[in-house]
Amino acid sequence: MATGKINVSVDNIFPLIKKFLYSDHEIFLRELISNATDATLKMKHLTTIGEAKVEYGNPIIEIKVDKEGKKLHIIDQGLGMTEEEVKKYINEVAFSGAEEFLNKYEDSAKDSGIIGHFGLGFYSAFMVAHKVEIITKSYKDEPAVQWSCDGSPEFIMEPAEKDTRGTEIILHIADDSTEFLEDGKINSLLSKYNKFMPIPIKFGMKTETLPKPEGAKEEDPAPTKEVDNIINNPNPAWTKQPADLKPEDYKSFYRELYPMQFEEPLFHIHLNVDYPFNLTGILYFPKLSNDLNQQKDRIQLYQNQVFVTDNVEGIVPEFLTMLRGVIDSPDIPLNVSRSYLQADGAVKKISSYITRKVADKMNSLFKNNREEFEAKWNDIKIVIEYGMLSEDKFFDKADKFALYPTVDGSYFTFGELQEKIKDTQTDKDGKTVILYASDKEAQHSYIETAKAKGYEVLLLDSPIIGHLMQKLESSKENISFARVDADHIDKLIQKEETQISKLSDEEKETLKKELEEAITDKSFTVQLEAMDSDASPFTITEPEFMRRMKEMQQTGGGGGMFGMGSMPDMYNLIVNTNHPLVSEFLNTKTAKKKERLINQSLDLAKLSKGLLKGKALTEFIKRSYEMVK
Ligand code: ADP
Ligand code: MG
Repeated sequence: MATGKINVSVDNIFPLIKKFLYSDHEIFLRELISNATDATLKMKHLTTIGEAKVEYGNPIIEIKVDKEGKKLHIIDQGLGMTEEEVKKYINEVAFSGAEEFLNKYEDSAKDSGIIGHFGLGFYSAFMVAHKVEIITKSYKDEPAVQWSCDGSPEFIMEPAEKDTRGTEIILHIADDSTEFLEDGKINSLLSKYNKFMPIPIKFGMKTETLPKPEGAKEEDPAPTKEVDNIINNPNPAWTKQPADLKPEDYKSFYRELYPMQFEEPLFHIHLNVDYPFNLTGILYFPKLSNDLNQQKDRIQLYQNQVFVTDNVEGIVPEFLTMLRGVIDSPDIPLNVSRSYLQADGAVKKISSYITRKVADKMNSLFKNNREEFEAKWNDIKIVIEYGMLSEDKFFDKADKFALYPTVDGSYFTFGELQEKIKDTQTDKDGKTVILYASDKEAQHSYIETAKAKGYEVLLLDSPIIGHLMQKLESSKENISFARVDADHIDKLIQKEETQISKLSDEEKETLKKELEEAITDKSFTVQLEAMDSDASPFTITEPEFMRRMKEMQQTGGGGGMFGMGSMPDMYNLIVNTNHPLVSEFLNTKTAKKKERLINQSLDLAKLSKGLLKGKALTEFIKRSYEMVK
């Protein structure tokens, strides 16, 4: 038996380890399984290149819980270590690595969040164990050794009885960590961190039903057998070549990733790059709702098939955090803080690669199967629109395939739309006016009026569309968006012939005065217009600019622009001076009757705009019944 001192300058590093990694102490298991995996893969490599003249076989990694003995075992059949190697890799290298790590990150450790993910390796075992043993036998023809350490820098090294190749790590679980002796806890850790690790991981046994032997009777029970319970899929879809995968394989991998998710993904994107950085993965477009925040943190980040985090902020562009799937890269620095990560050159490249891939995939879907793309547009538009808003490079690409649906269910790209309406929908300054509605039901009468004139009306209803319109208006020349109820349609879009008012100037002046007296609500501004006699007598409009500002304030974008207070409601009441009803206002003799006529008409206009509510609506209905009686 040999004893010695671990090569470390601080007296006792273990309290430090515990302190710093406390919040994340469960990662010890991932670290030890990673080491077991590394050792197995190294063995494979050595046999493949002929360096080791031993049989590789079908090695697995086994996790065993000994609840009574308060021990947790991690057993591999990898290359093992000789006594010399234990001294070198465990006593010197690993520990100095740990010390260096702690010195370097002491300050940032607490707020970085990601700390402890990688870097402490083997010594993270001391977060949960008061004593750790290593029993290992190298593939080389050398005796097995046993190393043990109780958390002080002293270790014990002695010969061991082990005749099979590989390493067994035994953790004597500390009293404050007995949760790691529960099968349920270990199971959940394994499925969180090790679900896709490349070497099969066994945890316990399970019963498998075998086919009945020939000639067995109906009532005979099927034979069963006890088999290893392997908890992982060592060959997940993202590690395979896209050419080897069928659409169904992508779907079943999605179910493997999100067993509780019943809806199928809309598209997938297989990421695969090895220069200038290494990255593989599969991203999925799920069906998205309009709630942007609810759907984040679904992309899982792996490093060589080891789960790292499902917070990919900073690595994936913000707008793509709504997607799901897996990204696996050995090139993402993991034991650093997020702000560092965001400034990292490799990470920036990864982010722009992913953005480009997503844009290319959308573009090819649009080109090759426009029908399907249109059918799915509603479910993916929020991501695309968000991307167009936040990343200029994405905007340029997406501008070619982003769709603008009409209220009648046709889909145009921006270019197509512009081509279609540029001669027929222009305002007095010659700008192309893009008419849109945000709600087919609420804006029904306005949509009908616009359609009756032969105009295209888009249906734009995502929560961030106001911001996107703003961006389109500033990046495209000579266009502007106007919601169908922003103004009277004949003022939004210039018509060749102008109508002549049937009323004299004097009559108009009187009319305006009378209307303003009768209408007490000051959020309405009366505007007289000479229009077709069959156009509505009253139309309520809400100026585009004001309404959009108000909406954007609600979604956060235009916030603060007008100070803290919310903006007041402002409407125009467009009065058609050529409508017979309007002449009737003038001709009505009694003031009381006149006022009633005007307010009943105003209520009808409000009703059409969806503004008549509560008490006003109740009174309106009561009054209307009286009238038809
Ligand atoms: P890292 O894995 O980053 O090298 P660790 O602290 O996790 O750091 O491990 C230190 C070293 O100990 C490894 O590089 C390896 O040489 C050795 N080692 C740890 N676990 C095993 C194992 N199960 N089998 C063989 N060698 C191991
Ligand atoms: Mg390690």
